[in-house]
Amino acid sequence: MTEAAVRAALARVIDPEIRRPITELDMVGDVQVDGARASVTIKLTIVGCPAADRIERDVREAVATAGIDELDLTITVMTPEERRALTERLQGGRTRTMPFTRESLTRVIAVTSGKGGVGKSTVTANLAVALAARGLSVGLVDADVFGFSIPAILGIPDAKPTRVGEMILPPVAQGVKVISIGMFVEGQAAVSWRGPMLHRTIQQFLTDVYFGDLDVLLLDLPPGTGDVAISVGQLLPHAEVLVVTTPQAAAAEVAERSGIAARQTGQQVIGIVENMAGLVQPDGSILELFGSGGGDELSRRLAVPVLARIPLSVPLRAGGDEGRPVVLSTPTDAAASAISHLAEQLARRGRGLAGRSLGVSPA
Ligand code: ADP
Repeated sequence: MTEAAVRAALARVIDPEIRRPITELDMVGDVQVDGARASVTIKLTIVGCPAADRIERDVREAVATAGIDELDLTITVMTPEERRALTERLQGGRTRTMPFTRESLTRVIAVTSGKGGVGKSTVTANLAVALAARGLSVGLVDADVFGFSIPAILGIPDAKPTRVGEMILPPVAQGVKVISIGMFVEGQAAVSWRGPMLHRTIQQFLTDVYFGDLDVLLLDLPPGTGDVAISVGQLLPHAEVLVVTTPQAAAAEVAERSGIAARQTGQQVIGIVENMAGLVQPDGSILELFGSGGGDELSRRLAVPVLARIPLSVPLRAGGDEGRPVVLSTPTDAAASAISHLAEQLARRGRGLAGRSLGVSPA
């Protein structure tokens, strides 16, 4: 066996957090090969790296498949210089600038609602998973300060991001890179931050979190038109916005305000998601628990289409409680297929400029 063969085998080991081959991340140190015996040094990015066990296992497997019978594996940690060089390289040499600019190829979609409890987080989490299942690279920022529920819905209620220098590596759940305000507070502590603190946090999520090259970045906004929505509007004026509402006609008015607030920052409202639509009962009849017409009413008010009507669904609700998104666990469920269809429409739709405010105002 040659050193080159062993290094080639190591190139198949992917760092589970950064999602790149460890050879590209300068995590492979010394490699010596003597016949079917090899000694290899792996340099983890940080002490206590949560992915250490997995990396070690994958390295042992990869080296064995390269024909090495006896491996002397040394696991160390990068020096601060090595870590700095790596984070700079991963961030493309940029020093703390926001990658999700108007020019970037990542589509940014913010999901908002007029009030809480309409299923915004449930829809956003499932939409992210459905987009990832279509092969897209998806990031999800849970910016719902009051109800940060995304990690639980995706089955990672206790996950914490890993810090590498100034870079924050987001946990990955169901193929989606997730960062949540909930990951930065202890237990179930309430977040009672004022505007500037919230702004800095959102800015940090968008700047210091290493998402890599994303096709889509989804943001789960808090309901209404508060500080977070304003910050996101300032930081991501080119974001597309989905407004989630229920069929209850009275809810349309309050949801309209969130859409209007988004537009005022230059964001483009691309459509409405009507959630909690009629429940199909065992006898085939439809129970309209929340009435009907809310989606259409909002569509009329904001002059954008209803992109999806998601019925009330027990599997959708249970999937959220259990951390198993319904689009994966029960794809045949009517709510799951409505969300998958929404993902399909969004994936097909290019990042258009039509209807987008240019952000200029008369002098
Ligand atoms: P929001 O983010 O708007 O506050 P959530 O996503 O937290 O709302 O949803 C509120 C509750 O409603 C959750 O318990 C969720 O499981 C449930 N839910 C959301 N959408 C549906 C649906 N279509 N059918 C049944 N339950 C739903």
